[in-house]
This record gives sequence, C-alpha cells and structure tokens, in this order.
Amino acid sequence: MIAAGDAESRTERLKALVRDIPDFPKPGIVFKDITPLLESPEAFNEVVPALWEPWEKEALDKVIGVEARGFIFAAPVALHCGAGFVPIRKPGRLPAEVEAEEYELEYGTDLIEIHRDAIGAGERALIVDDVLATGGTAAAAARLVERLGGEVAGIAFLIELSFLAGRSRLDNYRLHSLIEYS
Ligand code: AMP
Repeated sequence: MIAAGDAESRTERLKALVRDIPDFPKPGIVFKDITPLLESPEAFNEVVPALWEPWEKEALDKVIGVEARGFIFAAPVALHCGAGFVPIRKPGRLPAEVEAEEYELEYGTDLIEIHRDAIGAGERALIVDDVLATGGTAAAAARLVERLGGEVAGIAFLIELSFLAGRSRLDNYRLHSLIEYS
C-alpha cells in the first residue's frame, strides 16, 4: 500500500512528464502528450505497477488495452500481473471474428472491436487506457467485455481529465487514475 504523501509526490513527478499540446488534433483541444513520460524509464517503470495497485490482491484473467496508446500501458500491466493481454482495436484491424461497439470521442465518433473469443465467460478483466476524457471509449470497451461474458474488474487510467466528467458515464465500475486535471 502506498502512503498518501508518496502518491502525491508520484502525481507531481508524473505530471511534470506530461506535456500540454494546445490545439491538437484540432482547435480547442489541449492534448496530453505522454511521450516525455515514456522516455523516462524510471517513470514508465513506476506507472505500470501503480496502474494495477488497487487490484493487486485480486485474480485478473485479462488486461485489455485500447488502440493505440492504451496498448503502451496495458501490455506491461498484463505482464506485471500475470494476466493475458487483449487488444481492442479500430475497425478492420483484428483478423478473426469480432464484436463491435460505437463510441463518442472528445473529437468525433468511432467504432472499436474485440475478438469474440478473447474473453471467456466469467473471466475478470482490467481495462487500461492512457486518458479518461468523456469516458465514451472506456464505456464502449466495458460493454464489449461484458458482451463476451466477462466481468469488468475495473478501469485504470494514467490521466483523468475530471473537468470532462468521464466518471459519471462509468459509475458502475471501479475506476483508478494516477494523475488528475480538474
Ligand atoms: P474519451 O472516450 O472521451 O474518454 O476519450 C478517451 C480517448 O481519447 C483516450 O483513449 C485518449 O487516448 C484520447 N484523448 C481524449 N482526449 C484527449 C486529450 N485531451 N489528450 C490526449 N488524449 C486524449
């Protein structure tokens, strides 16, 4: 268990490695660029177990990553906790039979897909993504897991943009975020 003071200093350390890019990918969006954090082996190494920490005493069967930046965090979390890694991808990228869900982005709408046989009935899955914005992507990912008969153990984010109230769309789920912008 991490003491409150340690979590606070971790947040500050990580925040210093997230760069704001105004007006990307379109005017009015402040894009949270995580590439400086990824370039720091110490920070990346700190983030992986921290994302998993609330579930570390629980059995997890699968860790789900959402294309593309979600993959960067979900794959090492899966290795770290001894679970399988499952990609959720943009349409037409997964080769076998898929289930699809539509979702709204902060900038547009899109579709995501998962392999139908990626999660077995009753399997417990942790969804991992880089940013919680409006919550549309995570909600669609959770619906995909549930449609396959899986249980969403929780959803972990590196960054939460709490001013967009994404949590309110995900109030059935256990949520965890390491850095919050309010
Ligand atoms: P949402 O569905 O609105 O919660 O959007 C979440 C997804 O969009 C995440 O997977 C992020 O990768 C991306 N995203 C949304 N807003 C931002 C932002 N301001 N900076 C970086 N990524 C973002």
